[in-house]
This record gives sequence, C-alpha cells and structure tokens, in this order.
Amino acid sequence: MKPAPFTYFAPTSIEETIGLLQRYGDEAKILAGGQSLVPLLNMRLARPTALIDINRIPRLDEIVTEDDAIVVGARVTERQLERHPVVAERLPLLVALVKLIGHPQIRNRGTVCGSIAHGDPSAELPAGALALDATVTVTGPTGERTIAVDDFYLGYLATALAGDEMMTQVRFPIPAAGTGWSVQEVARRHGDFALVGAVALVRVEGGRIAATNVVSFGTGGRPLRFPEVEAKLVGSVPGEALFSEAAEAITELLDPDDDVHASAAYRRQVAGVLVRRALEEALRRCEGGSR
Ligand SMILES: Cc1cc2nc3c(=O)[nH]c(=O)nc-3n(C[C@H](O)[C@H](O)[C@H](O)COP(=O)(O)OP(=O)(O)OC[C@H]3O[C@@H](n4cnc5c(N)ncnc54)[C@H](O)[C@@H]3O)c2cc1C
Repeated sequence: MKPAPFTYFAPTSIEETIGLLQRYGDEAKILAGGQSLVPLLNMRLARPTALIDINRIPRLDEIVTEDDAIVVGARVTERQLERHPVVAERLPLLVALVKLIGHPQIRNRGTVCGSIAHGDPSAELPAGALALDATVTVTGPTGERTIAVDDFYLGYLATALAGDEMMTQVRFPIPAAGTGWSVQEVARRHGDFALVGAVALVRVEGGRIAATNVVSFGTGGRPLRFPEVEAKLVGSVPGEALFSEAAEAITELLDPDDDVHASAAYRRQVAGVLVRRALEEALRRCEGGSR
C-alpha cells in the first residue's frame, strides 16, 4: 500500500521543527529513521498531513561520552551506537541491546531516540533505558525539559511527549564500576521483535547485593520495573534460590495480554524464566559476583 498524502518538511533547526509541530499539532509526525513510522504510513495506520524529517538538523547525530554517562542525539542510528568503541567498553549492555534489534539494514537507518520515542513495549532500547535509569531531553516552545524514562512511558505507544515537542537526546548513566548486566529475550526468529524479554543489572559488595535493577519487556503496555522486588534483593546474599524467588514474585505481578504471537500465560511463565536467567548472568558478570 502507499501512504495517504502528506506534506513533507525538512527543517534545518530544532526551532523550525518546533514551529512546524505547533502549526500542525496532532496532524504532524516526526520522521527519524522511518523504520517504524514508514510501515505505519504504508499500512495507513498513521495518516499525518505533515511529515517533519529531522535528518537535516545539525549536531543531533553525535554520541557524547561523559565521565558518568553516554549521551545520544536524536539522529544517532542504532548502528552508530553498536559500533562506538567507547560505548562498547563503558556500557556494553547498550551494544548487546542494539544487536538484538532487527537486522543491520534496520539498524543502519533506525535511530536510538526514534526507538525510545516510539516506545514499542517489546523493543529492547526502551527496556534498557529503563533499567539504566536513563533520561530523555525533549524540546518544545517553552524550552527543554528532562524526563526520567520511567515517567516517559504512559502506556501502549503512549509517552509524556507533548504534540509540540521533539525528543533531542537520551542520556544513559554508566552504572557504578563492577556492575554486572544481562539482557535475555525470546523471539520467534533472529531479528524479530522479542515475544518476552528481561534486563538486569547487579552490583555486589562484600558478598551481598548492593544494587539491582530489573526490567521485564513484552509483558505489558510498556517496559516494567519492580521496585519492591529490587528492594528485597538488595542486602541479600545472591544465589539461585534468591533469584528464583524474585522471578516468581515478578511473575505474580505481571498481567500481559494474549495476542496473535503468544498467550498471556506463556508470556508470564517465560518472563519469570528470563528474569532469573538475567539476574544469574548479571551476577556472573559483576565484580565479586562470580561463584
Ligand atoms: C523489519 C523490522 C524489524 C525490526 N525489529 C526490531 C526489533 O527487533 N527491536 C526493536 O526494538 N525495533 C525493531 N524495529 C524498529 C526499529 O528499531 C526502529 O528503527 C525504531 O523503532 C524507530 O526508530 P526510527 O528512527 O526508525 O523512528 P521512526 O520510524 O522515524 O519514528 C518512530 C516514531 O517515533 C517518533 N519519533 C522519532 N524520532 C523522534 C524524536 N526525535 N522526537 C519525537 N518523536 C520521534 C516518530 O514520529 C514516530 O512516531 C524493526 C523495524 C523493522 C522495519
């Protein structure tokens, strides 16, 4: 199918983009890599009257490596992140997440911020961003604001981004030294969206868990964190029984939907298994955690 008619704009500044968003409101869509939007246009599931291509805005294609964070501009592709040597060294979880996205052709065009702005509940980067306590910067008519990823996702493909705002960057904090990480997922074929997935971070000090972040994805309208389960893990001696208990507690908290790809019961059960495996692998990777 072909998209419904639209007017194409290629602004060269953030200000110009915001002006267009103000002019067209909900009738406008930002085009970044087009890897999610163009299929929606072609199937006429999205029918914007204005398409605002941000690919000519300078400086949004930069990855900035700070002492304690990796900051990724709105035009940075998934492939750029995957191939960045400093990211590979300092935040290998990001590279592992990106490698699970589609195929190289998709990652050559798809952007990191586009994936986060789109917010597919089965997507890897939104889940990783939540696990890492990332923040997004959005710019609108009154200036910039920073939103924690946990507050950014409101529900299925719904975010806190207002109609006249664009996302300009995402900031991934680098976890404390010695933190172990893992991403686990089940997909029908390599490159498919995950049916279910889990991300875990674990840091151990003096033989006990000092910090942990656990995320399940593909199991609700948005990626999910489990603060009560994380709080119970902190201070405990890590091990198989503890992680199985945490995975069971998370399974109890999940309420996924049935869909054509998997039943709710399947998703809950697999989510528990993946959370346990993610915690175990993160423990193996963390300093002082190998056993
Ligand atoms: C065959 C195929 C397989 C795929 N497999 C996976 C997979 O396994 N895992 C996965 O996570 N993804 C997968 N994807 C999606 C891919 O990661 C997309 O690139 C990504 O979801 C969207 O990024 P994009 O830059 O292409 O955004 P676009 O498609 O350009 O935009 C997506 C949405 O985000 C909005 N948007 C984009 N940028 C901004 C911004 N800066 N500010 C505000 N709004 C913005 C757009 O308006 C649109 O609504 C797949 C895509 C394809 C075609």
